[in-house]
Amino acid sequence: MTDPYADIREAVSRLCADFPGEYWRRLDREREYPTDFVRALTGHGWLSVLIPEEYGGSGLPISAAAAILEEIHKSGGNGAACHAQMYTMGLVLRHGSDAQKQRYLPGVATGELRLQAFGVTEPTSGTDTLALRTTAMKDGDGGYVINGQKIWTSRAEHSDLMLVLARTTPRDKVEKRTDGLSVFIVDMREHLGKGLTVRPIRTMINHATTEVFFDDLHVPADALVGEEGKGFRYILTGMNSERILIAAECIGDARWFIKKATDYANERNVFGGPIGKNQGIQFPIAESFAETEAADLMVKQAASLYDAGEDCGPQANMAKYLAGEASWKAADMCMQTFGGFAFAEEFDVERKFREARLYRIAPISTNLILSYLAEHVLGLPRSY
Ligand SMILES: Cc1cc2nc3c(=O)[nH]c(=O)nc-3n(C[C@H](O)[C@H](O)[C@H](O)COP(=O)(O)OP(=O)(O)OC[C@H]3O[C@@H](n4cnc5c(N)ncnc54)[C@H](O)[C@@H]3O)c2cc1C
Repeated sequence: MTDPYADIREAVSRLCADFPGEYWRRLDREREYPTDFVRALTGHGWLSVLIPEEYGGSGLPISAAAAILEEIHKSGGNGAACHAQMYTMGLVLRHGSDAQKQRYLPGVATGELRLQAFGVTEPTSGTDTLALRTTAMKDGDGGYVINGQKIWTSRAEHSDLMLVLARTTPRDKVEKRTDGLSVFIVDMREHLGKGLTVRPIRTMINHATTEVFFDDLHVPADALVGEEGKGFRYILTGMNSERILIAAECIGDARWFIKKATDYANERNVFGGPIGKNQGIQFPIAESFAETEAADLMVKQAASLYDAGEDCGPQANMAKYLAGEASWKAADMCMQTFGGFAFAEEFDVERKFREARLYRIAPISTNLILSYLAEHVLGLPRSY
C-alpha cells in the first residue's frame, strides 16, 4: 500500500531532526515547555491541518494529522505539548455559532490564539464525568458565573483560551442523566487572577499539566458553546478524534522503541558477540514489531472510517487500546534490551519509557475502554 502522507511524514521528520534527544532531555530535566518546537510546527502549519480552509487551516483529514503526530513521536519527540491545539477546536467547529467560529478559528489556525486546554476532569469525580461538581449558573445579566475546580488541565499555562465543562442544571433536575452539562469557552487572558487561578502540577513527565480553580468567574452569554445542557454529548463526539490521534502518537513511540532496541541489539557486544544474536533479545523485539504493525492497522481503519464520516467509536477505542498497549510493551522491551544503560538519561529510553506510560491512563484509561467495548459493543451488562 502506498502511503498518501509520505510527503507530510518526510517534512515533519525533517523538522523534528532539528529537535534531537538532547533538546527533549534538557526540557525534561527543567520541566520546560518546548516553545521553539511548537513555534516551528506552527510556522509550518502542521498544527492547523484539521481546520477547514475557510478559517485559514489546510482542511486535511484526520489521517494526515495522525501521520504528523506519529512522526513527531517516532523521531523521539513528544507532541503532547501541542497536540490539543490540533483538535480542541473541533468542538467549536462542530457545535459553536458562526460568530464563535469566525472569532476564534482563524487565530487558532495561525497560532496567534492558542486553544489547547480543556478542563473536564475534577479531583472528586475522576472518570465519572457526569458527577463533576463545577457549576455555571446564570448571573442575571445573561451570562454565567463559574465556580469549582479542575485537575490535570494540561497546557493551561500555554493557552489563551480554555474549554470548560460545567454543570448548568443540577443532576436531580435533568430529564436524561447525560443532560445538564455545558461547554464554555473562557478567554484566560482576561480572567487570569480575576476568578481564575492556574497551578502547575509537577509530574513524572514533562507535561505542563495544571489544576485550575474558578471562583465566581463571570463569563458572558456568548461563552456558551452550542446548546446549554448538551455539553456531555459534545465531548463524546470529540472523543473519537482524540483517541485516534493519541493512538497514532503511541504507534510513533512504539516504532521509536523498536528502532532504538534493534540498533542497540546489533551494536552491543557481550560474551563475544552482539546481544541481538540471542533469541531472548530478538523475540521480544520481533513480538513488539508484530503488535505495533497490527495496532497501526486498527489506527488506520479508525481514521479512514472517521474521515468517511462513519461511526468509528469501537475502532477508535480499540486503536487507542491496542496502540497504547503496543507502545508500553515496546517501551518495556527497549528497557530490557538496553539493560543498565536504559537508566542513563543520555539514551532517552528512560524518558520515553516514562512518557509512553501515560497513554494507558490518559486521556482515557485502558479499563474504561475495555468497559466500553464490553458493554456498548458486545452487549454485556453495565457495571455503572
Ligand atoms: C498527565 C495527565 C494529563 C491529563 N490531561 C488532561 C486534560 O488536559 N484535561 C482533562 O480533563 N483531563 C486530563 N487528564 C485526566 C485523565 O483524563 C484522567 O486521569 C484519566 O481519564 C483517568 O481518570 P482519573 O485519574 O480520575 O481516574 P479515576 O476515575 O479515579 O480511576 C482510577 C482508576 O480506576 C479505574 N476505574 C475507574 N472506574 C472504573 C470502572 N467503572 N471500571 C473499571 N475501572 C475503573 C480507572 O481506569 C483508573 O485506572 C490528564 C491526566 C494526566 C495524568
